[in-house]
Amino acid sequence: MSSHDVIVVGLGGMGSAAVDHLARRGLRVLGLDRFPPAHDQGSSHGGSRIIRQAYFEGADYVPLLVRAFELWDDLEDRSGIEVRHRTGGLMIGAQDSLAVEGSLRSAREHGLHHELLDADALRRRFPTMNPADSDIALYEETAGFVSPERAVTANLAVAAAAGAELRYGVQVQGWTTDAHGVTVRTADGVHRADRLVICPGAWAPALLADLGLPLVIERVVQFWFQPTGSAADFDESRHPIFIWEDADRRQGYAFPIHPESDGTVKAAFFRDGATCTADTVDRVVAPGEEEPLREFLLSKVPALPGPLVRAKTCMYTTTPDEDFVIGAHPGHDRVTVACGFSGHGFKFVPVIGEILADLVVDGVTGHSIEMFDPQRFSTRS
Ligand SMILES: Cc1cc2nc3c(=O)[nH]c(=O)nc-3n(C[C@H](O)[C@H](O)[C@H](O)COP(=O)(O)OP(=O)(O)OC[C@H]3O[C@@H](n4cnc5c(N)ncnc54)[C@H](O)[C@@H]3O)c2cc1C
Repeated sequence: MSSHDVIVVGLGGMGSAAVDHLARRGLRVLGLDRFPPAHDQGSSHGGSRIIRQAYFEGADYVPLLVRAFELWDDLEDRSGIEVRHRTGGLMIGAQDSLAVEGSLRSAREHGLHHELLDADALRRRFPTMNPADSDIALYEETAGFVSPERAVTANLAVAAAAGAELRYGVQVQGWTTDAHGVTVRTADGVHRADRLVICPGAWAPALLADLGLPLVIERVVQFWFQPTGSAADFDESRHPIFIWEDADRRQGYAFPIHPESDGTVKAAFFRDGATCTADTVDRVVAPGEEEPLREFLLSKVPALPGPLVRAKTCMYTTTPDEDFVIGAHPGHDRVTVACGFSGHGFKFVPVIGEILADLVVDGVTGHSIEMFDPQRFSTRS
């Protein structure tokens, strides 16, 4: 008999939620990660991740987001760790921009509470904003952000409290399955269990090579600016998160100042990364890398991009359709995979944990995950 029911490889955003949900269902869980808890070497660091429900990436994501929001609150209650900031959120751009048009479509389809602001209304209500007269904004009151480090820490804490065994600094070198279970090989030895869940983030091409997924790993930089305007104007008590799309369809976004941001505003471009690999990514941010973002923001939120205080690289693991990869491994029914979160996965973290636990325990989930089928990229005759 295996000493564990399930091994979870990777304890970043998704894996930390998986060990929580699996341990709560009474399974004997072993979690392994090569780095320390809530580290900054993967995709789940930098102090803030936007959460929102009106979803320009696709209306089909909305039911998952509604459940994720419930589970974010539940995680805070169970862990006693504050994770979620309710600041409200603005999607800004031309009427036919993806940010506005797509968000509006999903909000209408799912009856999400939202407000539409024309340029004048946007200027009046949020005086830091300088929209073009043709810009409009969708405002969503329930949007805001979560702290990825606190979320991972909270997931791991409640998982450990429910009996999960969590080990860090353990690099998984490979895994196999047989009729009786799974074997996971690490530098310190071999672990056996009945089942395996793999949440490898940007290391998916190494740990899931046999799936042949067409994943692109991208290096993206998060920048922290000190606003030139009054810090109070950018405080989370009065400043929402925003995503702003320009005529070239570039999307820049930013977070307000909050107690853990040292008086800075974090900003970045969505989907503007250079291709890399997780092991060879250039983690040094060169002087001047922030200039395109500064220029983008200067016309839109003029008092935002003051002196650059710090910058940090992160990685996206992007699929061709930018939808996630979640499901049973097609070649190994004891193995469940979750990767390819394509730069927009964090807001889903707790519901992904729930889905992975459903798949391991029941073999099926009540959530709609057809669009995440790991086999959708394979050529079928
Ligand atoms: C700059 C940036 C901004 C983002 N903004 C947002 C946002 O605003 N909203 C949003 O919803 N999403 C956002 N995302 C996306 C989101 O953060 C990711 O989709 C999510 O963090 C991915 O989680 P993960 O668990 O797949 O990866 P990770 O958190 O990186 O976890 C993977 C884990 O696997 C471990 N691992 C890998 N290989 C091995 C091995 N061989 N042995 C042991 N352990 C291993 C790694 O150490 C790591 O801990 C952003 C991402 C970035 C980079």
